[in-house]
Amino acid sequence: MDNAVEEKFKIVVGLEVHVQLLTKTKLFCGCSTKFGLAPNSSTCPVCIGMPGVLPVMNKHAFELAMKAALAINCTIATYTKWDRKNYYYPDLPKNFQISQYDLPFSSEGHLEIETSQGTRKIGIFRAHLEEDAGKSMHDESGGGSDSKVDLNRTGTPLLEIVSKPDIRSGEEARLYLEELKLLLKELEISDCEMQEGSLRCDANVNIHITMPDGTIAATPIVEVKNLNSFRAVEKSIKYEAQRQYDQFQKDGKVYRGLG
Ligand SMILES: [Zn+2]
Repeated sequence: MDNAVEEKFKIVVGLEVHVQLLTKTKLFCGCSTKFGLAPNSSTCPVCIGMPGVLPVMNKHAFELAMKAALAINCTIATYTKWDRKNYYYPDLPKNFQISQYDLPFSSEGHLEIETSQGTRKIGIFRAHLEEDAGKSMHDESGGGSDSKVDLNRTGTPLLEIVSKPDIRSGEEARLYLEELKLLLKELEISDCEMQEGSLRCDANVNIHITMPDGTIAATPIVEVKNLNSFRAVEKSIKYEAQRQYDQFQKDGKVYRGLG
């Protein structure tokens, strides 16, 4: 993207990062979280959601989550609770995920990054705990006729860190992720192995365009999911911002005026 185009709009990005916590066992049962075990060998009635089971929280997962929340300058809640996020999916046998909705255990943090323009403070809405779902494996070579489900990952503890829409470029997004990874690895909270799914990132992207009359038009927010490297995050934000600008030029619609 050339600079002349970039000046015509402001990029607005918020990142949702999921990190797998470095525990030996899952969030609500004693099954191993070790990567690469034989499919469905690390499961039990609790993590596959059999009726009548009693989930018991993993204390170490909570301690690691707390350590991470403090490292990103979050305020720790005096009261927190779990919620059930209901959805049907083949890799979620109990049809709900245990997560935190309106009362996360931590909120209102920030992370500082060093950019070419100096230090930037990126706000963080919240960091909350939740359990992971399983994994669907689709047989691409067999013409997509065969799909299998591996529930080893079901119930693995995740920390979800949601940034405020303070990120202004693909480069800033990459710097934020690099800083976060450094912190989480150094404090031994997560191994942050992206290829093993220990760190996953979704980017919410839109742009603000200054109109000739001085008002600001905002394009609809697009969520770019399942980005598998920091470079992919950086590139996809650049691409998505330009695509939204081109689309805006084409249809000329003001989706949401910001005054
Ligand atoms: Zn289990």
